[in-house]
Amino acid sequence: MSVKYIAEPFRIKMVEPLRILTREEREAKLAEARYNMFNLKGEDCYIDLLTDSGTNAMSQNQWSAMMRGDEAYAGASSYFRLQASAKEIFGFEYIQPTHQGRAAEKVLMPLFMGEGKYAISNLFFDTTRAHIILSGGRPLDCVDPRAKDPALRAKFKGNMDLEAMERCILEHGADKIGVVVLTVTNNGAGGQPVSMENIRQVSQMCKKYSIPLNIDAARYAENAFFIKRDEEGYAHKSIREIVKEMFSYADTFTMSSKKDAIVNMGGLIGVKDGSSPLIPAIKSNCINFEGFVTYGGLNGRDLDALAVGLQEGVEDDYLKYRIGQMEYMAARLDDAGIAYQSPVGGHGVFVDGQAMFPHIPYTEFPAHVLAVELYKEAGIRSCEIGSFMLGNDPDTNEQLKATAEFTRLAIPRRVYTQAHLDVICDALINIKARAHEIKHGYRITWEPPIMRHFQAFLEPIK
Ligand SMILES: *Cc1c(COP(=O)(O)O)cnc(C)c1O
Repeated sequence: MSVKYIAEPFRIKMVEPLRILTREEREAKLAEARYNMFNLKGEDCYIDLLTDSGTNAMSQNQWSAMMRGDEAYAGASSYFRLQASAKEIFGFEYIQPTHQGRAAEKVLMPLFMGEGKYAISNLFFDTTRAHIILSGGRPLDCVDPRAKDPALRAKFKGNMDLEAMERCILEHGADKIGVVVLTVTNNGAGGQPVSMENIRQVSQMCKKYSIPLNIDAARYAENAFFIKRDEEGYAHKSIREIVKEMFSYADTFTMSSKKDAIVNMGGLIGVKDGSSPLIPAIKSNCINFEGFVTYGGLNGRDLDALAVGLQEGVEDDYLKYRIGQMEYMAARLDDAGIAYQSPVGGHGVFVDGQAMFPHIPYTEFPAHVLAVELYKEAGIRSCEIGSFMLGNDPDTNEQLKATAEFTRLAIPRRVYTQAHLDVICDALINIKARAHEIKHGYRITWEPPIMRHFQAFLEPIK
């Protein structure tokens, strides 16, 4: 194997015991959970890769910052520390905390959208897609076609397809496009990064047609790391400089701080122009949905943890170790001939469930099959990112076909060791050896109308 594990730039001060169930116990838990990974209890998962969202381990500096939390209803000093930290990182004039990323979307998206409007993205994350639809609009995905080929090793596969974007604008009319959302890194495409050149070009096109550009910024730091590593002209820039430049092209951002800002709960909205008419409307929505503007649904102590986490997220040694974990797993899977969205992205390994089970059609959710098998095999909880998550067409109610059927092994930040990663890779290798014996997938027995993957019930097809 050619990739060496990059040792942790921290040591462990507090431990959280894990429990390992037997295979029989795990099979019973799955049936009880109606084969939905979100219905499993956390304590029944040996290695929990359901998401990298809010599952981060905080640092001693974050924990000590929490002790300074100011719980004043209005104007808490925690809010001003968060504002100073976020303004320094992003260079935006207005910063609005919210309780998490989807709350930021709920506050901001209705201000851009409405009946008959469209929003364009390099691939909407599921909650962002939902908030576009809930505010009367329709989402249009224009991801770089290279993202649809998991075996194709190319840089910046998370990019916006600029030609497709312009076609959408011309087809529907620029006045019907409420907002362009650039997701960095591109979660739906496997944590693939977006290049600075692409961000610049998307921004230019938005300006040409007078459409606001919003960055969906959950993984701003991981994206900056890829730009530094892989894009010409950025090797000698600092991560901080790169982040600043990325955001300089956007008008607003929405952020789930539960990812790269290394906290357990929180979100942000940013507006570049402090005199934007959006700001009073953001404040009104925030007060109605989230709470007063200086706490936005969070505790004062959460604001302080976030203020520190935003800074830790852009540290060089941390990001090298972080992306190094993905590269270590990817190299082991390469050795075993297991396909994944390659090159590996920033926050997890997106295993190609369709390649693992070529005989199972998308209507039976092959990547969900792999998620179930991983839990049976080693108590590993993962998540399907494919047709099951995508859901049905909101107009025709027909099952949509995802561009790829991924089983996402999302890696929580600063949580698992090299030995844990080996358990995961060994489990995948064992499943691959018996994949042909698994003949059928799953059918949905109940589903809610939107974001069904969190709640739906499934059963194995016999
Ligand atoms: C997680 C995420 C969101 C939603 O954020 P929550 O904090 O989970 O509500 C939005 N966009 C992207 C790209 C995400 O990864």
